Amino acid sequence: MPSRTKEILEEHGFSFKKSLGQNFLIDINILNKIVDAAVLDDEDGVIEIGPGIGGLTEQFAKKAKKVEAFEIDRRLIPVLEQTLSPYPNITIHHQDVLKADVEDAVNKLRENVRHITVAGNLPYYVTTPIIMKLLEKRLPINQMIFMMQKEVADRIAAAPDSKDYGSLSIAAQYYAYPEKMMIVPKTVFVPKPNVDSAVLRLKLREAPPVQVKDETYFFQVVKASFAQRRKTIWNNLQHNLLGKENRDLLADALKRADIDPQRRGESMSMEEFATISNELLSNQP
Ligand code: SAM
Repeated sequence: MPSRTKEILEEHGFSFKKSLGQNFLIDINILNKIVDAAVLDDEDGVIEIGPGIGGLTEQFAKKAKKVEAFEIDRRLIPVLEQTLSPYPNITIHHQDVLKADVEDAVNKLRENVRHITVAGNLPYYVTTPIIMKLLEKRLPINQMIFMMQKEVADRIAAAPDSKDYGSLSIAAQYYAYPEKMMIVPKTVFVPKPNVDSAVLRLKLREAPPVQVKDETYFFQVVKASFAQRRKTIWNNLQHNLLGKENRDLLADALKRADIDPQRRGESMSMEEFATISNELLSNQP
């Protein structure tokens, strides 16, 4: 571990909490690559999730106009205040990002900056809830750049007919364009995690790629269709959404959508899920 990180941790008598996903990034090249992937300028704002001891925060602060960082672990607040003291454009919030009013933070930041990037080396245990919270709120942000478990990045960016494609791919791609930027080996973290990581960029869409009559229902159809991956769309939708009593409704909707009931969810495009959910709704009493 670079001596500076070690020094800071020793000085504060810091011990890592696995339960908070504390794997700190210690390779300056990777830190810089993440910041470069964000393509920031001095009119931009950054919201960082989980600054840790501030390695990434510092690099963002050098490029962006303003950085707002949310850290859950109280023990890290004095460490951050010390390591980041040369940067007046950073504000640290001692808060769980899942409970924080991120909407308010984004709206306030928006008043002073041109574009907003939400970024971070995300704690593994809450990667998906954090990303989904940010996407579903439709906040006025331009992009997200996140380090995460490689497997989760693969699932988010997956296309139909691949083993990683599922409801998470469709949910994320409904709101954003995901792009895998790089694979990051375990060795650049301390402590070393069990899995490799990847940096994923999600550019927010201005409008969804498909038209759905009811978003909540559309996502219920998608989720039910992948409930048991080996099962057909017919079985999954009957057992996990509509029930046997609605066999006819399901058969009619699939027919009108021109979808073979024997297909599996993993072969279906977002467009096809949208058509099925719209057809199911158009026939319900
Ligand atoms: N950004 C630092 C780095 O790259 O070295 C630390 C990354 S570490 C993978 C994840 C950080 O997120 C830790 O500092 C952890 O305490 C913090 N964290 C965990 N859960 C959080 C939550 N719900 N809200 C805010 N921060 C959280």
